This record gives sequence, structure tokens and C-alpha cells, in this order.
Amino acid sequence: MGPTLRSMFEQTVAKYPDKEGLVDVKSGKRWTYQEWDEEVNCLANTLKDAGVEKGDKVSTVLFNTAEFATTLFACMKIGAVFNPINFRLTGKEITFILQDAAPKVVIFENATHQQVAQAAKEVRGVQFWSIDQHELDFAVNFQGQIEGASRDRPDCELDENDVYAIMYTSGTTGLPKGVLHTHRDMIDQGLIMGAVMQVTDKERGLSVAPMFHCAELHCAFFPRLMMGGTNIIMHHFEPKPLIQTVKEEAITTFFAAPTMWNMMLQEDLSDADFTSLNKGLYGGAPMAPALVKKLHEQLGIRLFEAYGMTEMGPAITVLTEDEQLDKAGSAGRALINHEVRVVRTREDGPADPEDICEPGELGEIIVQGPSMMPGYYNRPEATEEAMYKGWYHSGDIGSFDEEGYLWVSDRVKDMIISGGENIYSREVEDVLFDHEKVMDAAVIGEPDEMWGERVVAYIVKKDGSLTDKELDEFCTATERLARYKRPRRYEFVEELPRNASGKLQKFKLREKLKHV
Ligand code: ATP
Repeated sequence: MGPTLRSMFEQTVAKYPDKEGLVDVKSGKRWTYQEWDEEVNCLANTLKDAGVEKGDKVSTVLFNTAEFATTLFACMKIGAVFNPINFRLTGKEITFILQDAAPKVVIFENATHQQVAQAAKEVRGVQFWSIDQHELDFAVNFQGQIEGASRDRPDCELDENDVYAIMYTSGTTGLPKGVLHTHRDMIDQGLIMGAVMQVTDKERGLSVAPMFHCAELHCAFFPRLMMGGTNIIMHHFEPKPLIQTVKEEAITTFFAAPTMWNMMLQEDLSDADFTSLNKGLYGGAPMAPALVKKLHEQLGIRLFEAYGMTEMGPAITVLTEDEQLDKAGSAGRALINHEVRVVRTREDGPADPEDICEPGELGEIIVQGPSMMPGYYNRPEATEEAMYKGWYHSGDIGSFDEEGYLWVSDRVKDMIISGGENIYSREVEDVLFDHEKVMDAAVIGEPDEMWGERVVAYIVKKDGSLTDKELDEFCTATERLARYKRPRRYEFVEELPRNASGKLQKFKLREKLKHV
């Protein structure tokens, strides 16, 4: 037994029945906690009538919508496993996940119907429900399904160790794997993040980063919900409407990937008002120190940073707003009840958790904590490898400084080796970001006959006049990059390949190189 996410939701409903619980910016609809709970019950009963039983999966291919939030809790009410799928995936990628997870029902919307239609041709025994009113030969209408269903709470025996969700990794390092999380994992993650960020029932939090991703869902949405704050949902990220919503809805907190914060800074900010915002949060990818400082100077805000990975719930370290300027670029320190180590990597297998690096020495980041996944769905070997000796091996390279702050340098797989020397892309990217005409930057290694690999930089310019010569002179002048680390070639591009959670997809840049 023990508390579950369902019981926590219902406690909030009981405490704040008449408070605004959910707001959908796109449709303009608003629900009190009591009304929202009834919607959730209604959908839960509908799913049950449609044959969904405890342990069955329900997938969504939804942007941030009220239906997403309602489906999430409807699943918990009947013990179904929630499987939120990235709305940017192709039909083929969605097919892979649906074949792996084998859900009973898939809920989607107009904006994703083409990819879902493609997947529907490949998977059998799945019901497809569309939240929009349109006629599709492979799907039924969501509204039609829930009409007339009971709004009473369904009965279901839940245990804190029951799996609540399967979340697929973004697949930046291979095929996506289904990460399992239990109610207990996420109660711990929500409470710890809530404590660290001092979340209260006064929050008016905006979900603008994709809710299918655990950073938004577990680090921002759950803590707020547990404390009884108001949840305002924005369909997708666009800088102008976001800036406007912060002002109109007096938003106190939201999570955004570094690239989203960067895009906000490119907007005309004369009419922006961020005074209501007391907890800006970022994570999922590194933020260049130059951007941290610009955000402080131009918007007057200091952010919380969270570092982690889907397998850990995700957050394992945070850099608080007070530490943000002094330690800009660091991932901060371990969260309550978490242990983070940097250990020496080995050629012939997973790193030994006892072979701990000295401060300043680079190694693999490994971690233990209460929100660690019980394992990957249907992948015992991958689980065993990732959780060697009970520690989750992140595949990230980093180091601790003398004060115990963690610095993430690169992914093991993205590290560049030139003439036998390791080059960590983050170090080079942070220097490039310092150039005032650079809007976005990514470096990768390209094959080189003499050195094995050499550094190539992909740059999105702010100003059309930027040249490779200028950048090379800048990198030299900073004296922060040894010669072998400086890019040998610059490619100017319109945008960099990033996934829906703002992560750089370096494999796409490498693919591009093959075709040069
Ligand atoms: P896959 O395992 O399929 O490649 P993924 O690792 O991209 O998927 P996520 O769990 O979304 O899946 O990403 C975790 C990774 O994101 C971390 O291992 C790290 O490389 C990066 N990351 C997350 N937060 C930060 C941060 N604050 N600073 C630097 N890197 C971060």
C-alpha cells in the first residue's frame, strides 16, 4: 500500500476543491480541482469500459493539452500504465514504441494524426482516440467516448511500487528504451524538487516544455500539483506567446530548455513583464555560462538548473538560483537522498563504482537515488548493464570541483579524440557561445587522416556578417582553448537539430557529415 500519485492528487482535490486547478491556454478552458477530478474520473471509467485493466498501457501522442493532464491521472485511477510519446516522432518511430509498449488505447490530436495514422497501419489490437472533431477511418472521437460516463471515482487497489508510467528515452544514443517509473519513485522526485524549489500552493505554474518529457512532468508539474498550485498548460513553445502568457496569467514558475530561454532573449522584450516569475527552471541540456549571465542582465532572473536523465526520474543534481551566477555552467550538487560519483571509465565494461576520481579528474557520472527506475521495459540486459552494481551509469563525462559541484563535459559517445587527446564538446561550445554574434553552436568530430578526428563547429549566427575567420580569431584570443581543441572548420546553418526537449541531436550532424 502506501501513498500513490493517485492518492496525492485526490488529497490536493480534497484540500483545494474550488481552487483553479487546470487552465488550458489554447482552448481558454479552466477547471477547479473538483471539476478536473470529475473529468479525470469520467475518462478513467471510459477507459475501463473500453477494456483497459490494471497494468494495461495507455499511450498519448499529444502536445501540452488538458487531455494530456487528464489522461495521466485517469490512468492512475484505474492502475493503467501511462505512456506519453514524443509528439515530434515520425510514424516509424511511433510504430516502434507502440509495438514495444503494446498499449490498449492511443490518444492523439489533429497535430499528430498523420504520424499516428502511419503507425495505425502497422499495429494491431489498439484503439485510437482523437481528441479533435474530425473523421478518421482508423480512430474514434474522444468526446464521443467519454460522453455519459460516470463521474464517480473508480475503485482500484494500487500499491506505491506499482509502475505508473513507461517513458521512452529520446534515442539520442540508439533505439529508444522504455523507462519504467513507479508511484513511489515519482512521489520522492516530486517532494524533493518541491522542497528544493520551495514550491507552495501559491504557484501559478506554466507547462510550456513538452509534458511527455519527464523534466517538465516530474520536476515542475508534479511538485506543483502536490502542493496545490495552479497548472496552466500551453500547447507548445513559441517565444512571443510565452512571454505574453507569463504576464497575463501572472506566472510564478516554468521550466524551459536552454534553447527556449535563448529564443526568448532574441524577442523584443520592451513589453515583457517577468516580475511574477520567482522560479525559472531549466535543464535537459547544458546552458552556456554566457546565456546564464545574459538572462540575469536582460530579464533580471536567476534560474534553477536541474541535471539528470529519464532513468533517474530525471533530476539528480540542482544548481540553485543563489549559486547560478558564481557557478554558471556547473550542474550543481546532489539532490537530497541522492549520491553522485565520478568514476574512472574502463575499456572492457561498465565503470567500477568504487574507482572514484579525484576532484578535477574527468570520469563517468554514476548515481543512486530514490527515483531510480526499477528497469527498462522488456530489456533485462540493457537494465543490467545500465545499473551495474546498483549504480545507474549515465554515459556522461564530468568532474567534481573542490567544492563538490558537478561539471558535465560531454556524453561519452560525443567526445572527440584528436591526435590521442580527448576534447569535450561542451568546453568548445561554451567559448563559441561567448561570441556576441553566435546564437547557437554545436561541435562534433569529423574524420581526419592525420589526427583521427578534428573539431568541426556548426554555428547559427545572430548577425549575418559573422565569418569563420572572425570565430577562429575569437577562439584564439580567449586563450581558453588549446590549438587542438579549436574548430578546424565552421559550418553556418539556419538551425541546429534539436529534439522536442531541446537536446542537440549530434547524430544528425554526423549523418550530415557523411553526405558532404
Ligand atoms: P537516450 O538515452 O536515448 O540517448 P537521452 O539520454 O537523450 O536519451 P534523456 O534522459 O532525455 O534521454 O537525457 C539525459 C541526458 O541529457 C543526460 O545524460 C545529459 O547528457 C543531458 N542533460 C540533462 N540535463 C543536463 C544539464 N543540466 N546539463 C548538461 N546536460 C544535461
